[in-house]
Amino acid sequence: MKEPYRWPENIRAAFCFTIDVDAESPQLWRGRRQTSLSMNELEQRRYGLREGIWNLLETLRRYEVRATCFVPVYEAETRPWLLEALARDNHEIGLHGVLHEVVSELTPDEFARIVEKGVETVVRRTGTKPAGFRSPAWEMTPWAFDVLQKAGLSYDSSLSGHDHPYSLDDTIEIPIQWPIDDAVFFRYSGTGNDRWPPRSTAETVKSWLDVCEGIERHGGAVIPTVHPWLTGRSYRIPLAEALLEHARNTAGLWICTAGELAAYHAASPNLGSFRHSRELPVPSSFMLQGELACLSA
Ligand SMILES: [Zn+2]
Repeated sequence: MKEPYRWPENIRAAFCFTIDVDAESPQLWRGRRQTSLSMNELEQRRYGLREGIWNLLETLRRYEVRATCFVPVYEAETRPWLLEALARDNHEIGLHGVLHEVVSELTPDEFARIVEKGVETVVRRTGTKPAGFRSPAWEMTPWAFDVLQKAGLSYDSSLSGHDHPYSLDDTIEIPIQWPIDDAVFFRYSGTGNDRWPPRSTAETVKSWLDVCEGIERHGGAVIPTVHPWLTGRSYRIPLAEALLEHARNTAGLWICTAGELAAYHAASPNLGSFRHSRELPVPSSFMLQGELACLSA
């Protein structure tokens, strides 16, 4: 039988609004070997830290909700006001690479230097040590967890192995969900490679609220992910408003930051119940010698 996640008294589920504060850095990492970059995409992304972040911060202030913001070092250093503005509103700041590097494309040593640079930047600019990491593109490797632990980070928020916090060995995972990630719905490059047009805000509101209600009904943690250059657009702020309105009006829903959720998990009876190995299986060890020709061909 499925073991229920145990929440404090009078709480039945949690809600944590997260913002991946990346503007140009993902494009710069992807295009690092190219001689020129699409200016159309660059300007779309730059909107995020010219206007989008202010739209989101104003909305959060209106609903009195503190978010968790995962910020690449590139964005923090090229906009010296950024971390200060997030910290001023008491939002939690977590790490998101230097140039939004995809972890699986790095060596452990490179990743360690990136995490170290991230911690140093947040401490220097805000005076507070970050507790969490979110992997760009949500890809992780088993060794990356060792690096996070050595750097003194307590949680990662990149994977979806439960609908509530859990652990991969000694690192707490604050689970994300693709159906409530705005990039899936709104990213549109205009280069002819897009697979579908950007979704309307109204239909996205409906599908995201369905996900929220489903997770809440089963006692999980709702962790939506938005980007200033996508949901921060003026015509998509109604999505952020709908989520915050829903969270504020749902009885028994704990509105918290990812760091608060990780700290709760670490001190709760759930810690021993939802702990798994981060090691990857080795498919070849399950292959029968000579009998599965299709697999060995
Ligand atoms: Zn990102």
